[in-house]
Amino acid sequence: MSKIPGLYVVATPIGNLEDCSTRAIEILQTVDQIAAEDTRHSQKLLKYFGITTPLISLHEHNETISSKILLNCLKKNRSIALISDAGTPLINDPGYRLVKLAHQHGIPVIPIPGPCALITALCASGLPCDRFIFEGFLPGKNSARLKKLQEFLYETRTIIFYEAPHRILELIDDMLAVFGPKRYVVLARELTKAFETIHGDNLEKLNIWLNSDKNQQKGEFVILVEGAEYLSPYEIDRQRILGILLAEFPI
Ligand code: SAM
Repeated sequence: MSKIPGLYVVATPIGNLEDCSTRAIEILQTVDQIAAEDTRHSQKLLKYFGITTPLISLHEHNETISSKILLNCLKKNRSIALISDAGTPLINDPGYRLVKLAHQHGIPVIPIPGPCALITALCASGLPCDRFIFEGFLPGKNSARLKKLQEFLYETRTIIFYEAPHRILELIDDMLAVFGPKRYVVLARELTKAFETIHGDNLEKLNIWLNSDKNQQKGEFVILVEGAEYLSPYEIDRQRILGILLAEFPI
């Protein structure tokens, strides 16, 4: 058993296995159990570091029941490490219910910080990092995605999204429609992996660049949108009304 019983929320690499911290490896080696999103996927990481701790699955489809089972173990003073397939657990990954239950039952929750795709992308993007918003995945349906993007038209902070490779072209098209050709956007692809690419440009040029190279459409993406210039509420209303009028009565 590890020294302190409790729930360890352990960040694991987002690509390069060498990014696993010494502390994370030590915790994964010494806890009683590891709760993993996909036990087969996590075996690769555990094998790499020679970790043989028993695994139990906790994924989005069994999260409620699995959290209750794990809570019972934690109540018996056992130590459990929660990991996800990649990066920081709970960040667009399961685990929220278990962490909440642990707090409600007075069980220590110990974070073991490490890789996280959005932070990795943000710090290398060249965009302001002091204030940002993270929106995770946008809706899959085109109409819902456009509607959601509209919400960020006047957002002044850096806006960060996650996206799957099969939707990257559609997303850039939708961003062009909402933010216009001049908005600066950074694509951070395959971070910490062999084909890592961090490329920023205005949406018009970014779209051309992306469409001209199929290789750049593959892999995992973080998309970072430069915040808008500050407009007063009066000016935002004026621009919205103008937009509606122009849509109704094009010049
Ligand atoms: N928990 C993870 C974290 O800490 O970033 C995120 C999990 S979420 C289910 C998976 C998404 O994160 C991917 O679809 C992609 O948008 C982003 N992502 C994960 N690894 C990445 C990488 N190596 N490069 C770029 N984006 C990545």
